[in-house]
Amino acid sequence: MRKNIVAGNWKMNLDYEKGLSLFSEIVNMVKDEVVGNQEVIVCSPAIHLSSLAKLAAPVKNVTVGGQNIHQAESGAYTGEVSASQVKSTGAAYVILGHSERRAYFGETDELLAEKVDAALKHDLKPIFCIGETIEERENERFFEIIQSQLDKGVFHLSNADFGQVVLAYEPVWAIGTGLTATPAQAQEVHAYIREAIANKYNQEIADNTTILYGGSANPGNAKELFSQPDIDGGLIGGASLKSRDFLDIVKVFN
Ligand code: PEP
Repeated sequence: MRKNIVAGNWKMNLDYEKGLSLFSEIVNMVKDEVVGNQEVIVCSPAIHLSSLAKLAAPVKNVTVGGQNIHQAESGAYTGEVSASQVKSTGAAYVILGHSERRAYFGETDELLAEKVDAALKHDLKPIFCIGETIEERENERFFEIIQSQLDKGVFHLSNADFGQVVLAYEPVWAIGTGLTATPAQAQEVHAYIREAIANKYNQEIADNTTILYGGSANPGNAKELFSQPDIDGGLIGGASLKSRDFLDIVKVFN
């Protein structure tokens, strides 16, 4: 049975001490609220990872993740962080393909496929983000875009490797904008993604894949979104920076 996941994406926020203090608060609040096969992940800037991973270690089903890796093993890539380095902090996941990295850092599907491979090689689970822009939605090209991002980014993986991947459907027009996909719009795309997985791999793998929704999810809309049959939780940006809001989203699965 697939996992339900609530993952926070802190983006480039919080200095070291503030990050530790927010995470301590989150851990204290969620430790008795993470139920069944649910997992809570906080994807922090690299500077926090090792300290957060130590705080998370004693708590069941609370883990941490990075927000990016370089595709190379190591070497002369000033300012970059490799998969093995992120893994060595105790992180279990890494966000790849976030629309901000695609848009501001020119990350292509082809590059992202290399990053996915690097992550898996070092036992870091990718949280792979896909989603259409507002123009692509208005032109009704969103299924085509989603299919192409899947084909180029993750569908080269073996069955076993694909089994390590979490997908996040994040319509670009809903990220950080306060606009949220309606539960019906999100469900329609999630169902498409699950069917695409079944077509590429098989129904069992499709049924076992966690597909998160991301895009201005908050305590007010999370319940309706997460109750859709193919929405298995959320990737949460802004609301993950407020412990109370993040807790309320985690508690949707109680
Ligand atoms: C995100 O950055 O992945 C995200 C979903 O952000 P927000 O929740 O702020 O829209």
